[in-house]
Amino acid sequence: MDYDNLSYILNHTGEEQRVQGAAVPPVFQTSNFLFDTIDAMAECLSHEDEMPFYSRGVNPTVDVLRKKMAALEGTEDCLAFGSGSAAIAAGIMANVQQGDHVVCVQKPYSWTAKLLDNLLSRFGVSTTYVDGRETANIRAAIRPETKMLFLESPNSWTFELQDIEAAVAVAKEKGLLTLMDNSYCTPLNMKPAQLGVDIIMHSATKYIGGHSDAVAGILCASKAMCKKIFAGEFMTLGGILSPMNAWLLVRGLRTLHLRMERVSHTAAEVVRFLEAHDKVAEVYYPFLPSHPQHELAMRQMKRGGGQFTITLATEDEEKVKAFCESLTYFGMGCSWGGHESLIFPALTLHRSQNYKSTLPANMIRFYTGLEEADELIADLRQALDAI
Ligand SMILES: *Cc1c(COP(=O)(O)O)cnc(C)c1O
Repeated sequence: MDYDNLSYILNHTGEEQRVQGAAVPPVFQTSNFLFDTIDAMAECLSHEDEMPFYSRGVNPTVDVLRKKMAALEGTEDCLAFGSGSAAIAAGIMANVQQGDHVVCVQKPYSWTAKLLDNLLSRFGVSTTYVDGRETANIRAAIRPETKMLFLESPNSWTFELQDIEAAVAVAKEKGLLTLMDNSYCTPLNMKPAQLGVDIIMHSATKYIGGHSDAVAGILCASKAMCKKIFAGEFMTLGGILSPMNAWLLVRGLRTLHLRMERVSHTAAEVVRFLEAHDKVAEVYYPFLPSHPQHELAMRQMKRGGGQFTITLATEDEEKVKAFCESLTYFGMGCSWGGHESLIFPALTLHRSQNYKSTLPANMIRFYTGLEEADELIADLRQALDAI
């Protein structure tokens, strides 16, 4: 994408019609839209997926976000959801039925696995997880009843990539629909539609919103696919985005390119510091030359994001705990993509009743936010010194 086009999308797409000259689109905080005539209402009812009739369907503020995201991903249309998980559920459920099979990359986002394992299995949809680093594993898992291939590149925690072009070629050959979770890369660092992916999903809670103040999800796809999902899971399950949160996401998008540049520069500096530190055993980051899929990352992604993972050299859980609790700039929490730097220690999964984790207890996922790299490095240095 050329830069001018990007500027246009972030600043103008979907907001060409100014409302009373306002520089910023208003929040259409309304559930309902009213009509003067029977004909006008009947006409709108026939185009419920295109015109504002009732805000579970189309809302003008949400529409601005949909137009921008479709333009960023280079798809015909987009649907916005109340969370990334709602988007994933709608995207898969709209395209499978009883007896169907899904091939999914191993270790996807945890609630993607719960959807497939705990919910869809109740309705006769089965799933095979494959190590997507080798496209041959994807091919080998496909059965006559396989309908979808679910991709997430890179995945969270260990950042394993799939060769998207090669995976799509297999899916097309076998007649499978592809859905990719593109939350890590954002449309700025990777455009899966250009590589032939059918449905692109985002947890817009992360980089798209960018300020840790709204939970949201996105599906980008063809007009026909969006129409199908709208008429089915979107309207039926009703996992919609509120106008206010759509407005926050549109505001977040204005600076997406600046934030993405900033976090990837900061992550690169922080990663360089950690990789050289003798109390750090391993650093997982696709844009490090030591990452086993570095070459593929360079080929299919524009730059790295703000997330990476380390394992500490110690396996002593008390030392892992002391390190995590000594950090002051890095907040301890899940999620990422906002202004604030974060750590997510695998130790919290080990000690939780609700999650079964095979991740080592000395593994910590990081996200570098918008703070100064020097301050983050100083914080890490003092916390490493403390153990
Ligand atoms: C957070 C996340 C999701 C789920 O999105 P929510 O907005 O939290 O529902 C899905 N995929 C990835 C990669 C995520 O990080």
